[in-house]
This record gives sequence, structure tokens and C-alpha cells, in this order.
Amino acid sequence: MTFSSNDSSDPLAHILPVTARLFDNSGAAIFLFDNQDRLLYANAQYYDLICHERGTYPTWPDIMRDNYAKGHGMIIETPDIELWIRKALTKRRTQTYRQFEVDAWDGRWLLMTETLVSGGGLLGIGVDITQAKKMTTALNQEYQNALVKAETDLLTDMGNRRALERLSKLLVSKGRHYQVTAMMIDIDQFKPYNDTLGHLQGDRCLQQVAQVIRNSLRVSEAYPIRLGGDEFLVLMLDVPLSLAQQVAQRISNGMRRSAIPHPTSGSGLVTLSIGLASQSTVDSESFSSLLKDADDALYKAKRSGRDRIEGTKSP
Ligand code: GH3
Ligand code: MG
Repeated sequence: MTFSSNDSSDPLAHILPVTARLFDNSGAAIFLFDNQDRLLYANAQYYDLICHERGTYPTWPDIMRDNYAKGHGMIIETPDIELWIRKALTKRRTQTYRQFEVDAWDGRWLLMTETLVSGGGLLGIGVDITQAKKMTTALNQEYQNALVKAETDLLTDMGNRRALERLSKLLVSKGRHYQVTAMMIDIDQFKPYNDTLGHLQGDRCLQQVAQVIRNSLRVSEAYPIRLGGDEFLVLMLDVPLSLAQQVAQRISNGMRRSAIPHPTSGSGLVTLSIGLASQSTVDSESFSSLLKDADDALYKAKRSGRDRIEGTKSP
């Protein structure tokens, strides 16, 4: 087998010409650094990855500096390349075998394995995992989309009970002390509305109510949820009860402005009853009692004649 003059500067090409050819055709990036971290051998794919001319033998830190400065080759995310190199050098050669992922500016992903060889050399092989990475990213995205879908109420686009369950677990497990305010909202006399105007019109009304709720929140952390039927819950984090009362008032006013006609109610319009409750910290037990307090306040509003806001503060 003969080699072109291009191969003459490649030491391994003289020693193991067949192997070198095999390495070039392997599809993997193969490289060997000596104990001073100077490149001793690299196949075509590795030179291509680091954007260096074949037949050049730079040191590993210089390759990193070059790739970082020119924004080509391997992506290195750091504000300080020298510090990054120093840190990386403390990890290099500490294990006989290590594996890591590398992403390149041209969009490629490689799975690198480095093996410490006798005399302190480092032998590495990088396998292109771009397709697998893309597939994983796409699957992850699909999984995330499915999760969001599973936690979204189809009719109103608000969170559903599953979303509430996850949110409550998150609040309880976070260990941070939130003031949590719960606002229970129920449409007044929605059954006669539905019975008179039909289910489709009822659905439209539910969507309008959801929109009014969403438009009225305007606090940094508020999570609206449709619990089911004509009942909604808004959880607000670190919102004092007085501010939550203003939010409730905005919702009530918003309903009045929307002026959705109701065929049988006294005012002739669709109205809401709202119950508020607040806890300064939550664990799983107090979270349930918070929801119960808000529910009790809601039913107080119903008993007192509907179209009103009731709120109690838990001890
Ligand atoms: P109250 O003032 O005491 O709340 O009286 P209400 O008539 O609103 O009583 P309730 O809240 O129990 O009625 C809920 C009604 O909501 C019953 C059902 O007709 C209607 N409903 C429940 N889910 C849906 C839905 O997905 N779409 C529609 N259109 N109606 C629904
Ligand atoms: Mg109702």
C-alpha cells in the first residue's frame, strides 16, 4: 500500500499505514497526546473537529485556546479560558478512563472516551452522537409537551387537577417558606345557565370566565387552575391576603364589565362567588387545610347571597 506525500508528516502513517488508513475511515475522531499534552497522532476526523491542519502537533491547551478564541471547533463555555484550562488540567490524567460529551460549533455532538496509556499518554476516541442527541432532544421535547398537555384543561387552557397536584408537591417539598393564598371561584347558578342556553354556550361562558380570571391576576406568581365543572382555583405565592383581595375584586369587576347575560339570575348577568384563604407556610397537611378554608369561604359567599368575595385568614 502506498501513501501520498500528505501522509509523510503523520508519524503513525509510516509505522502502521494500514491502521492509519483504517482510523481515517473509522468515522470516529481518534487522537493521542503525549505525556506533555502535545498531540502525537490524530486522524482526519480529529483534525476536522479541532479545526487544525493535518500534520500539525499543537498542545492540548493551545488547541483549547485556539478553539475558544476563534469560535470554531469545540465549544467551550467559560468567561475565562485560562482558568478553564487550569481546572481541566487538574482533572486530566486523574482517571485511567473517562467519558464525556463534546459539542462542536458546527452542531456535532461527540461522545469522547479518554484512556491513560503507559508513559502518561492520553488516547482518545470521539464517536459522533449527533443523531442520537437530536433524537433525545426531540423525545424530551415531546415528553415535555405531553406533560404540559396532561396538566392542561382542554376547554380553558388553564392547569387542571394534575397541575395542582404537581404544584402542591413542589410547594411542600421546596422547603422555602412561602405565603400561599388560595382563591376558590365558582360560577353562580351555572346549572340553570347551562340548562337554559345549552352545553355549548355553557362551555363558551366557562372560557370567558377563565379569560377574565387570567386577565385579572397581575401578580408575579399566580397559578390559575380549573378544578372541574364551574369551579376554579388560583394559587398565589408570596401575595399578602390584602393584595389577593384586590385580585378577587378585579375578577369580580371584570365579570361585570364582560356582562355575560344570565337567563335566570337576579342581576341578569353571570356572576362569581369567591372564597379566599392564606397560610404563611405550607406543608402537606396545612396545604389541604388551606384549600378547605378557601372552600369554606366560598360556601360562605354562596350562603350569603352569591356574587361576593369572602376571605378568612388562617392562624
Ligand atoms: P351555585 O351558584 O350554587 O354554584 O349553583 P350552580 O348551578 O352553579 O351549581 P353547581 O356549581 O353545582 O353547578 C355546576 C354546573 O356546571 C353543573 C353542570 O351543568 C355544569 N358543568 C360542569 N362541567 C361543565 C362543562 O364542562 N361544560 C359545561 N357547559 N357545563 C358544565
Ligand atoms: Mg356553580
